[in-house]
Amino acid sequence: MAVILDGRVVSAALKEEMRRDVENMVASGLRPPHLVAILVGEDGGSMTYVGAKEKACHEVGFTGTVIRYPATVTEDELLAKVQEINENDQIDGLIVQLPLPAHINENKVTLAIAPEKDVDGFHDVNMGRLAKGSPGVKPATPYGITLMLKHYGVETSGKHVVIIGRSNIVGRPMSILLSNPGETGNATVTVCHSRTHNLTEFTRNADIIVAALGKPGFLTGDMVKDGVVVVDVGTTRVDDASKKAGWRLCGDVDFATVEPKASAITPVPGGVGPMTIAGLLVNTLQARKAQLAARTA
Ligand code: NAP
Repeated sequence: MAVILDGRVVSAALKEEMRRDVENMVASGLRPPHLVAILVGEDGGSMTYVGAKEKACHEVGFTGTVIRYPATVTEDELLAKVQEINENDQIDGLIVQLPLPAHINENKVTLAIAPEKDVDGFHDVNMGRLAKGSPGVKPATPYGITLMLKHYGVETSGKHVVIIGRSNIVGRPMSILLSNPGETGNATVTVCHSRTHNLTEFTRNADIIVAALGKPGFLTGDMVKDGVVVVDVGTTRVDDASKKAGWRLCGDVDFATVEPKASAITPVPGGVGPMTIAGLLVNTLQARKAQLAARTA
């Protein structure tokens, strides 16, 4: 039976560590870290994610603020708010929840965030630092996954990792983190995508698979070897009349056929999702500490 890589357990442990850290910070007269989330429109998924992030902030003693805009907000208004937050030294981290309405250029907004406050780790400067292996903010989801692999002692060095998906927020940065030198790195990484031929040939040779394509139940038992470690990033809402909401979250992995062959596997929900939030909180705490260090330098 596979070990369940439980994101709720790992994130609870990390949150407890951070809570104590913040308690000490406040006891020594310093303000706690402050994370601001900008939410545009009323997309159900975005509202849920931002709500979860705000709740997590409060659990660890951070200040969490949500700034809400209607979907009609202009790009200029949004950019002006980002600029205002960049200049506010009482705020350590800023996330702009994606997706944004079609009339707003997401890349322009992401690049407007000061790299040191970009706790999602999406800014080109942070991606560049990641690619070079220099210190910087790491993208929250891939970073959270490495924290989970570390917690469970999953060895990555010398392993063959296959990542399905090459997005800028998950697949691409995940491939860099796992192949960089260091802890939870040193893997040999293959990045697969929609143009990959004979994907199963790659997945069957993988020691670790990270599925991040957004296709429910895509990875099936016949596509993996015995003993594989599987990380399921996918979170797609599928209709489910048995649920109060009328839907449930479905991962990219067919858990029923993959779990019996795996040595370890993440569930959906309760796997990568909580680790993304943990990654975001760790990044915010680090941003606050970097601000304090810069002040005393
Ligand atoms: P994305 O931007 O849509 O990227 C999907 C990637 O999958 C693309 O690179 C695409 O290839 C590849 N792909 C699509 N169909 C494929 C196929 N049949 N075979 C191989 N590759 C295929 O998605 P994303 O933002 O990375 O998110 C992926 C999933 O993770 C989604 O379900 C999302 O909701 C979820 N997610 C979860 C969390 C969390 O915290 N749990 C965080 C972020 C994302 P091309 O590049 O060739 O198009």
